[in-house]
Amino acid sequence: MKNNDLKHKIQRGLYNYFLFFTLVAFLVSCTTMLFVSVMANTLNIELTKDNMEASAKLTFLNVIVLSVLFFIIDTVRRKLTTEKITKQIADAAKKIVQGDFSVRISTVNNLSADEKFNEIIDCFNKMAEELAGVETLRTDFVANVSHEMKTPLAIMQNYGTLLQAPGLSEEKRMEYAKGVADGSRRLADMMTNILKLNRLEKQQIYPKTEEYDLGEQLCNCLLNYERVWEDKNIEIETDIADDVKVNTDEELLFLVWNNLFSNAFKFTPKGGKVAVELKATEQYVVVKVKDNGCGISPEVGAHIFEKFYQGDTSHATQGNGLGLALVKRVVDILQGELGVESSLGKGSTFVVKFWRI
Ligand code: ADP
Repeated sequence: MKNNDLKHKIQRGLYNYFLFFTLVAFLVSCTTMLFVSVMANTLNIELTKDNMEASAKLTFLNVIVLSVLFFIIDTVRRKLTTEKITKQIADAAKKIVQGDFSVRISTVNNLSADEKFNEIIDCFNKMAEELAGVETLRTDFVANVSHEMKTPLAIMQNYGTLLQAPGLSEEKRMEYAKGVADGSRRLADMMTNILKLNRLEKQQIYPKTEEYDLGEQLCNCLLNYERVWEDKNIEIETDIADDVKVNTDEELLFLVWNNLFSNAFKFTPKGGKVAVELKATEQYVVVKVKDNGCGISPEVGAHIFEKFYQGDTSHATQGNGLGLALVKRVVDILQGELGVESSLGKGSTFVVKFWRI
């Protein structure tokens, strides 16, 4: 391989030199002949075979010396301005191919180097940065999914072992069976959310626009939580504008309300309050889901839309940290805006705004 490389290099060098040499020889010969003939004419010198032969030899020697000299200068110049940089780029690209996304190339300050090299280097560095980000996301995602799967699996295993004990009372049997059922439901919920998020991220779901009554959808979705608010004795306050027709994807928006309501009820203690508000103008609608629960600190708030992030671990078993990531993704797809106002211990308000048409 190395021998082949060397052979190839020598061949390329000779090819370049002869190309250069022929061009220079041709130019120098033409100029010299012109010069000699003009001089002979003006000075009335007769051109004999001898003096022609001597000057031809001298010219030939000159051409060879000059062309070799230029060739060397040009090779060194190319080595410094082009080959060094292209080698750096090629080496860095090889590292990327091998999976090392930490590689970066420093920009060239060499005045004689082509400015385009810096453009290529900039693009290359950005590409490496993006690839490194995607790789981190991928590995984090796999780590998170495995971690999230372990807990319910361990719980189900425990309950399964307990269920095998002979002579269990009916009450215990029911309790352990419920444990297995809860664990499997949690796993199934997580898988459903991962699949939804995956489809949304790959943009396999495109908004299906249809006209429907947004207030009605909010009320129906809220009613799904009737048992929860009754159990926790949570007060419900609604301020939902009538007859707000929107032209958007009903199924996708259902995901948003469902996750926001489920969080509001989850993070609001017994005897608390959850309020839902819908306001609309000709152009846009604003939905607010407000609770007076535990609230979110600024440190937690900075991460709540990240996949698998759970700020409040006391409710960790009731979720998997994917809800708000889904909400954010849907709002982005619908080109809406999502905001949250919250203060620790006082409650949170999630605000969703999107265009009506
Ligand atoms: P999960 O609810 O499964 O933990 P989410 O993605 O829905 O996951 O929420 C992420 C985190 O955001 C929660 O763990 C919690 O810390 C915080 N959070 C979301 N909604 C509320 C809320 N209404 N009140 C307080 N904290 C909230």
